[in-house]
Amino acid sequence: METPFSDFSRLGEEFRRCRKPVVVVGSGIFGSVMAERLASDGGRDVFVLEKRSQFGGNSYSAPDPETGIETHRYGSHIFHTKSQRVWDYISRFTKFNTYRHKVMITRRGRVYAMPISLFTINTFFEKNLKPADVAPFLAASAEKFRDRVPANLEEKAISLIGEDLYRAFIKEYTEKQWGRPAAELPAEIITRLPVRRNYNIDYFNDPFQGIPIDGYGKLFARLLENPKIRVFLNTDYFDVRGLFPESVETVWTGPADRLLDYKYGYLEWRSLRFEWETHNTADFQGTSVMNYADHDVPWTRIHEFKHYHPEREEIFESAKTVICKEFPAAWKPGDEPYYPINNERNRELYKKYAGEITQRPGWHLGGRLGAYQYWDMDRAVENALDLYERAFRR
Ligand SMILES: Cc1cc2nc3c(=O)[nH]c(=O)nc-3n(C[C@H](O)[C@H](O)[C@H](O)COP(=O)(O)OP(=O)(O)OC[C@H]3O[C@@H](n4cnc5c(N)ncnc54)[C@H](O)[C@@H]3O)c2cc1C
Repeated sequence: METPFSDFSRLGEEFRRCRKPVVVVGSGIFGSVMAERLASDGGRDVFVLEKRSQFGGNSYSAPDPETGIETHRYGSHIFHTKSQRVWDYISRFTKFNTYRHKVMITRRGRVYAMPISLFTINTFFEKNLKPADVAPFLAASAEKFRDRVPANLEEKAISLIGEDLYRAFIKEYTEKQWGRPAAELPAEIITRLPVRRNYNIDYFNDPFQGIPIDGYGKLFARLLENPKIRVFLNTDYFDVRGLFPESVETVWTGPADRLLDYKYGYLEWRSLRFEWETHNTADFQGTSVMNYADHDVPWTRIHEFKHYHPEREEIFESAKTVICKEFPAAWKPGDEPYYPINNERNRELYKKYAGEITQRPGWHLGGRLGAYQYWDMDRAVENALDLYERAFRR
């Protein structure tokens, strides 16, 4: 299962030896699936350029050297999908464990389950409502927005779940996340706030869920193991583009504005910062993700990674644990982009960039950065499979 990493200095030489090579910029799940399809189904030679020191993009995980705990380097990543096609495809490269994601939220020193369910409602209001009571209960508390269109995120959220639940679980968390008052955020950021009328506290509804049994790092190594794929790590496209002819077919999964030297201005993002800690305790918080609703707690959530692999019994029971605090952060050019700021200015700007890039013969735009969209991994896989079928499959 060796991944054929190549030496950066040999890139130009190797490239000239290949017939009809394709360059894939970025080795996240989109770029890696594209590379796999191009090499294994299309028989093409693929040059994957990755500016980081490891492949896998934001989905990457690997064992922590001190504790052996599988850590997700860019925050928790749970694979989940409704798509049989995506599940069948990705399952060719990994087995999944039986993990089902559950998220807890701490608010004013008490813990509740998210998303809001009958369990959350009954514990928060200290009631014993039945499933049929939930809709009328929420409707009564959202009364004042029944006849008018919500003007901002705050109004939209209240119209969906009522004032009390909004103030308890959404307002302060969202304001931390976006760094602005909820009343100044566009209503479109949320289309719905799922409320379960039963005691199901699973975070996702998708029928297919799990964590790669031997980690995302191994999953990516298998996606990229075809000898026709050469992966160049620590290689920024802009440092090596002179080595390729202009006409080479290229799949670009980096930010669209970067490719065109930001000529129309910057697309804006929200960023994140992660703080890592190792604790001498077997279990720090009793669950994989604990959200923090309160304004005065500066992080939005704490990840505790050993909970993703209860089947790794020895490590799960061991006396150490690794946690990671996730802090929302303002973004400026050069920072790591995480969440696109989906407003009219950015949507218009993105259209200009995407229009120009896709006009270039042989150029393909993809991935969450190239699409300027928040995509879960399954959407990135699905879009990569679609792009391959549409643009490359003969
Ligand atoms: C905090 C957080 C938690 C998430 N949790 C989940 C989850 O639980 N489940 C889920 O399904 N999804 C989750 N996601 C979404 C998931 O991360 C994305 O779906 C996935 O990363 C998309 O893959 P990608 O290949 O499009 O982009 P990326 O993973 O971002 O990969 C892009 C790659 O391109 C490289 N690159 C960029 N520019 C250049 C350049 N100039 N030269 C060379 N290389 C370049 C980057 O270094 C990067 O490796 C989460 C996202 C975040 C932010």
